[in-house]
Amino acid sequence: MSVERTLSIIKPDATKRNLTGLINAKIENAGLKIIAQKRLQLTRSMAETFYEIHKERPFFNDLVDFMISGAVVVQVLEGDNAVKLNRDVMGSTNPDDAEEGTIRKEFAESIEANSVHGSDSLENAQNEISFFFANIELVN
Ligand code: GDP
Repeated sequence: MSVERTLSIIKPDATKRNLTGLINAKIENAGLKIIAQKRLQLTRSMAETFYEIHKERPFFNDLVDFMISGAVVVQVLEGDNAVKLNRDVMGSTNPDDAEEGTIRKEFAESIEANSVHGSDSLENAQNEISFFFANIELVN
């Protein structure tokens, strides 16, 4: 097993319902360490750049509108196989398909307002972490 870092975002549907602590508990109970965290209001330009990979998809504009509809909490998680482990803790994109006990099964409102983002590969994790954090902000 190798120690990895991954980017997590608690999305506006969850920050609006005061779920940051409950979501963090699920992350920590899974053995992931939150080594950086901040609450931000994304601008449209930040959200468009972050989700650039999805810009040809039909839901892109709705996704950007949703991601700027309230505060987000961006965080860096560290642990053994953190990228995959966090994806497991999150559950499937569509909460109807998510496993019992996952964040999305328990908290997500819809396929769009699905409470959390998590990097889907180590390479994307590195890029996404550097989008939001400087190295000195990552404290093990
Ligand atoms: P993820 O890696 O599980 O977050 O899923 P994707 O990378 O496929 O999609 C990114 C985000 O776009 C999701 O987390 C949702 O917030 C949103 N999304 C994905 N599929 C749909 C869709 O069919 N409709 C809408 N409105 N939003 C979607």
